[in-house]
Amino acid sequence: MYYDEAEKLSRLEIERLQLMRLQRTLRQAAKSPFYKERFKECGLDVDAVKSLDDVKSLPFTTKQDLRDSYPDKVLAMPQSEMVRMHVSSGTTGTPTVIYHTQKDLDWWASLMARCMHMVGLRRTDVFQNMSGYGLFTGGLGIHCGAEKLGCLTIPAGAGNSHRQIKLLMDFKVTGIHIIPSYALYLTTIFAELGIDPRTLPLRIALVGAEPYSEESRRRLEALYDMKCYNSYGLSEMNGPGVAFECTEQHGMHVWEDAYLPEIVDPATGEPVPDGEYGELVMTSLGREGMPIIRYRTRDITRFLTEPCPCGREHRRIDRLQGRCDDMMIVKGCNIFPMQIERILMSMPEVGENYLIILERDGFIDNIRVKVEIRDEFFVEDMRQLGSLQKRIASRLRDEILVTPRVELVERNSLPKSEGKAKRVVDNRERGA
Ligand code: ADP
Ligand code: ZN
Repeated sequence: MYYDEAEKLSRLEIERLQLMRLQRTLRQAAKSPFYKERFKECGLDVDAVKSLDDVKSLPFTTKQDLRDSYPDKVLAMPQSEMVRMHVSSGTTGTPTVIYHTQKDLDWWASLMARCMHMVGLRRTDVFQNMSGYGLFTGGLGIHCGAEKLGCLTIPAGAGNSHRQIKLLMDFKVTGIHIIPSYALYLTTIFAELGIDPRTLPLRIALVGAEPYSEESRRRLEALYDMKCYNSYGLSEMNGPGVAFECTEQHGMHVWEDAYLPEIVDPATGEPVPDGEYGELVMTSLGREGMPIIRYRTRDITRFLTEPCPCGREHRRIDRLQGRCDDMMIVKGCNIFPMQIERILMSMPEVGENYLIILERDGFIDNIRVKVEIRDEFFVEDMRQLGSLQKRIASRLRDEILVTPRVELVERNSLPKSEGKAKRVVDNRERGA
């Protein structure tokens, strides 16, 4: 039932292991120019860390710190020991570089294989990885996990939808890794080809790399007749394989033998009470080449406090709400794009894509939502469309407390990216 020993550790065993690995990680980190300096600045004696609670007194590491240390000041071993580097996708600005030794890569692949095994993938599965390869960790990261598990692994890469569909069919693919926005978009290509994705032998999808709602998951599960499991990771902590849903589909287990997660108030950096939302902070516990201490992920989530019925005692985090930076403030209301997605994806008339546009009229900010409508609802009758438009606007208003301007558009008319979707366009500067 379990992939490895670490997966079945008890709380007590996990915490004992974490303390040991935290101490080792700190000693290792202190060998890097960046942490040597940082620890000296804050007068930190790494040997004085005697309990897991002491982690709270360690300094944070931010994305900016990693950028400032470009290209190699966080390396704790000579560069000749490194065998691979990755770069974050750069969704929020200048990317950061992460290096790995062979041992780091082996550990990462095992974590990834553990995730895949947990949701029922086995060596007999044929697995197609539909995310970009290259510097993005969703490519090689998932790939190496799938190979380690022993699946026949197809490195399809991103885009080229017709080829994706051909591979899925010709090789009777049973498992895939796919970005949620692309998975939704791909259904429109299936429709154009007159193929029903439910007729494929697909069973399991690993879906992640960007925020998506529970409603999108349910929609994908119905459209493809497969199970979708949420997959969370970030380049700074290797990439995918950091936290993963079990078959309960309720929150993602953080592999705590490899990571030490905390949730803090993004404004103060102080821990929030268990169960409350805040910013996820992560310490790598297994990396030798480039350990990272208390990394501020900017991702908003919370710990789920009840034990998981699956029996695993690695703590779970809730579905990510988005990044702190994603929060929009319109007419004094704080809005996350995910709130909008949740409403849209629960409405059967709404198609697979949408775009949020922030505008400014004079001194007033407005929010415009362009929504793709399913072909069968895109009727000529203006009255019906008008009433649908009003219904969407009012459902959104109930959720975000601001009335958006809703614009209905035809299927496949909104821009589509092969990588992470860009859901928000901010035109406020231009309008001012
Ligand atoms: P970038 O920050 O440039 O996008 P990465 O490619 O390392 O760099 O992506 C990691 C980020 O992707 C995470 O910090 C998070 O914001 C987002 N992410 C990854 N998986 C998920 C997921 N399952 N749900 C929501 N967001 C996710
Ligand atoms: Zn579980």
